Amino acid sequence: MTSPIPQYLTALLETVREEESGQVADYIPELASADPNPLGVAMCMVSGRVYAAGDCDVPFTLQSVSKPFVYALALQDRGIDAVMSTVGMEPSGEAFNELSLDEESNRPMNPMINAGAIAVNQLINGEESSVEDRVEVIRGLMSRLAGRELGFNESLCYSELDHADRNLSIAHMLRSYGVIRDAAHDAVLSYTRQCAIETTARDLAAMVATLGNGGVQPLTGERVLDPDVCRLTMAVMSSAGMYDGAGRWMARVGIPAKSGVSGGLIGTLPGQLGLATFSPRLDAEGNSVRGTMIFEKLSEQMGLHLMNPVPVGVHAVRSIKEQGEDTVIVLQGMINFSAAESILHEIFARDFSASRLVLDVTRVVRVDNTGRRLLAASLLRMRRAGYDIAIRDPERRLRDLVLSDGTRAPRVEG
Ligand code: GLU
Repeated sequence: MTSPIPQYLTALLETVREEESGQVADYIPELASADPNPLGVAMCMVSGRVYAAGDCDVPFTLQSVSKPFVYALALQDRGIDAVMSTVGMEPSGEAFNELSLDEESNRPMNPMINAGAIAVNQLINGEESSVEDRVEVIRGLMSRLAGRELGFNESLCYSELDHADRNLSIAHMLRSYGVIRDAAHDAVLSYTRQCAIETTARDLAAMVATLGNGGVQPLTGERVLDPDVCRLTMAVMSSAGMYDGAGRWMARVGIPAKSGVSGGLIGTLPGQLGLATFSPRLDAEGNSVRGTMIFEKLSEQMGLHLMNPVPVGVHAVRSIKEQGEDTVIVLQGMINFSAAESILHEIFARDFSASRLVLDVTRVVRVDNTGRRLLAASLLRMRRAGYDIAIRDPERRLRDLVLSDGTRAPRVEG
């Protein structure tokens, strides 16, 4: 038997295939002559399962799709404060290649427009780095995110460099305000090489799923980025990832995303999956026409909107039952703040006749730090209310749970 998901994705591509509006980007000669027809989609779950259809293995250059990943790398290496002093995180509402800076701080508005991305590129590998070393660090990160070695499209890179007047102007502006130190030419060379790294939709789904998975690459299991770096990067994608259409995108599609002029589009739902599409014709805002349609349809048909209310933790208490001398409180699912709140509510709303209360977490899949803290606090209160307490935790989901008075709850087997 086979999963219906690949079939769904194949059928989804057919619903947009006939759409021929939009134009391939024409300001870089090599992109202007690109085949406008490829159409591919890939989905990578945080579990590492990948579903893909159409031209999901056709290589294309990252272009602006590189921006969130290099931003994440800068955050990881330099820390949030250093990055924040170089680039803001407000949507600019302007074209991607606008020559603009924040009026008060003289910083680029955000890392998803070219001014911000050129500045962020300069943060990689230290200020003294050569272009070659900096670019190699970036290529190395992209490869770890993809789970395979990536290379450059050299001819596209040099074609873009021959027509880089706009980005050179931006780099000169950044240098005149002291945002970057390198020569404008070197800054643009480094940024353009970052844009010229080649991937496929299949690679990109895993790369962006890594952000959604809190920094662990779903296929290789390697921790590439820290969770707080991923959270910040996704937050900036959600407010500024879709050129000047970012507000409408979040309302209609609701998936933090980034598009690029070569026709790539990536998006992720935290804790769930990464998505990538490839279709080179772009709308007036510079976003892939058919890629946008695919994202809209996936969001609507598969309920993939970030703002969909997903009840978490309402059924965290599976049962409360008498077992011999004990009352056993059986918990299930993921224990976070909301789940712990509902557990506390169930426990403290009643009086138990048994002398011992057993918290059974055999059916719990994960406990976050808040969940652990609140469970520990509940156990202590139960003990202070006069009950004996114990935990049943054969998989050690609670690890070594220490209560705030320094004691532990005894463990019971079975
Ligand atoms: N390398 C392109 C540029 O800077 C990327 C633009 C984009 O994908 O938005 O013009």
